[in-house]
Amino acid sequence: MRMSQLFVRTLRDAPTDAEVPSHQLLVRAGYVRRAAPGIYTWLPLGLKVLGKVEQIVREEMDAIGAQEVRFPALLPREPYEATNRWTEYGPNLFRLQDRRGTDMLLGPTHEEMFTLLVKDLYGSYKDLPVTLYQIQTKYRDEARPRAGILRGREFVMKDSYSFDLSDEGLETSYRNHRDAYIRIFDRLGLEYVIVHADSGAMGGSASEEFLAVLPIGEDTFVRSPGGYAANVEAVTTVVPEAIAFDGLPDSHVEDTPATPTIETLVDHLNERFPREDRPWAAGDTLKNVLVMLRHPDGSTEPLAIGVPGDREVDTKRLETQVSPAEVEAFDEVAFKNHPGLVKGYIGPGSLGTESGTGIRYLLDPRVVPGTRWVTGANQPGKHVLDLVAGRDFTADGTIEAAEVRAGDPAPDGSGPLELARGMEMGHIFQLGRKFAEALGLQVQGEDGKLATVTMGSYGVGVSRAVAAVIESSHDELGIVWPKELAPYDVHVVLAGKDDVTVAGAEQVVADLETAGVEVLFDDRPKVSPGVKFKDAELLGMPTIVVVGRGYAEGLVEVKDRATGERRDVPVADLVAVLT
Ligand code: ATP
Ligand code: MG
Ligand code: MG
Ligand code: MG
Repeated sequence: MRMSQLFVRTLRDAPTDAEVPSHQLLVRAGYVRRAAPGIYTWLPLGLKVLGKVEQIVREEMDAIGAQEVRFPALLPREPYEATNRWTEYGPNLFRLQDRRGTDMLLGPTHEEMFTLLVKDLYGSYKDLPVTLYQIQTKYRDEARPRAGILRGREFVMKDSYSFDLSDEGLETSYRNHRDAYIRIFDRLGLEYVIVHADSGAMGGSASEEFLAVLPIGEDTFVRSPGGYAANVEAVTTVVPEAIAFDGLPDSHVEDTPATPTIETLVDHLNERFPREDRPWAAGDTLKNVLVMLRHPDGSTEPLAIGVPGDREVDTKRLETQVSPAEVEAFDEVAFKNHPGLVKGYIGPGSLGTESGTGIRYLLDPRVVPGTRWVTGANQPGKHVLDLVAGRDFTADGTIEAAEVRAGDPAPDGSGPLELARGMEMGHIFQLGRKFAEALGLQVQGEDGKLATVTMGSYGVGVSRAVAAVIESSHDELGIVWPKELAPYDVHVVLAGKDDVTVAGAEQVVADLETAGVEVLFDDRPKVSPGVKFKDAELLGMPTIVVVGRGYAEGLVEVKDRATGERRDVPVADLVAVLT
């Protein structure tokens, strides 16, 4: 490819909205262009890199026997209604209507569709196991699209789904994916950790995340010298002061004491979530207590949202779906007897394995000593205490993950925790039978009886990976591509105007291409060598070859982009040196 022909425009300055290096460099080097907030156009160079990431992912998925399919992004409402995710997804879901007024959505993830596809075509235990995947465009109306393609509203994901009859089968499918992900992220050259994504007390490895270790990462994870690693959202510890709160108003208490004390909460923990290693005890640390109040009429519309401290504000939902009267009514109930209780994150969402909707309140750490803000998402698998089965309300106390401090002991006793930042690159998840149940995916078992299929779901952020690699591999001059991802292997710079040098550069390029090397050739006649060198550093091909002054003596300069090391190589040896 010739620079004179390539559709690219490099920029000296980063766009003003670009704060992280990968975003700045992808735009400056002409790999992507913003189309709208959180939505990007892939230019020729960027598309080549994206294709290389896709290919790595595809090869490793194929290697574990997964088969590629491709679903539409535009999807019908009904399947998502059946699993309650039409509502649960909240404002993150792009919803739209067709000309007949039929509700549709742009797929944020495809569990429902894959489940129905398998249900559609398969009906016997003999058909299983099967694993299907796609590399496809996803849509999520992220509250804060940021950092360019790292968090887009449109992005490319590899999502795969395993279908097994037995729990052991699911374990195997999960393990195969875990191994494949290790190979994928190794090949991408990322430094990463595999962390528990949800609380170990709910079943250990049911969900793990692959986090790229990056200072710009949005996740905080902890790790111990003994090998424990978890997303902080998944670390549950018990702080006695934090749960010594007043409890729910008497009028809403029936089955449990009006004032949950440390003892009653610990009892509940031991009853509902027994730990294998040792029982919960009053000395354990609990960082937060959340209280979830369900909507009295059981409706799935969210009720209210509040923002303690610096938490994410979901103003859109607040404005569109919550009536001020409802908020007030709930506040009155919730705050009456609760000094230090503030409104927390709201979601239609899941509490434990149950879906529900309500306000989640948490204790204000400025008022209640020993508590801290949670950053946690409302994921299945968190500890749930059924404190109250009320009359018109159901109220649950949720003991949830929180920010732990460096030096805190690891929950498995493997030493003091260290805190670091990570960016989620992949997520593997044992879904179990939830989706199959909701959508009726059953097959005839060996015994002739119908059996519900158990599923796993596994995602890789393909477009995110392009940016994450740059985050970990760049310098002040530009991008430094690892060999597997570079759009071209070699960037040949013509630095001379005389006929001999020009013809020499053409020959060098032809020889390299014949040898199977992918070459980007900066042949631009009216551009100074200085500008060409700058562009070569910015674009980031692993090797830069300069055909210039030395050519008359039969030499070209070879520069390693990563180390900056230069050396003169006889033209006759170049192909051998670079292949
Ligand atoms: P995050 O915690 O970053 O919001 P997620 O947990 O919502 O990600 P999953 O539903 O697990 O994401 O999707 C699988 C993968 O898709 C993630 O591990 C991530 O790499 C990628 N991904 C998710 N959201 C985005 C996005 N908005 N832009 C780019 N990639 C994304
Ligand atoms: Mg997300
Ligand atoms: Mg996540
Ligand atoms: Mg995830």
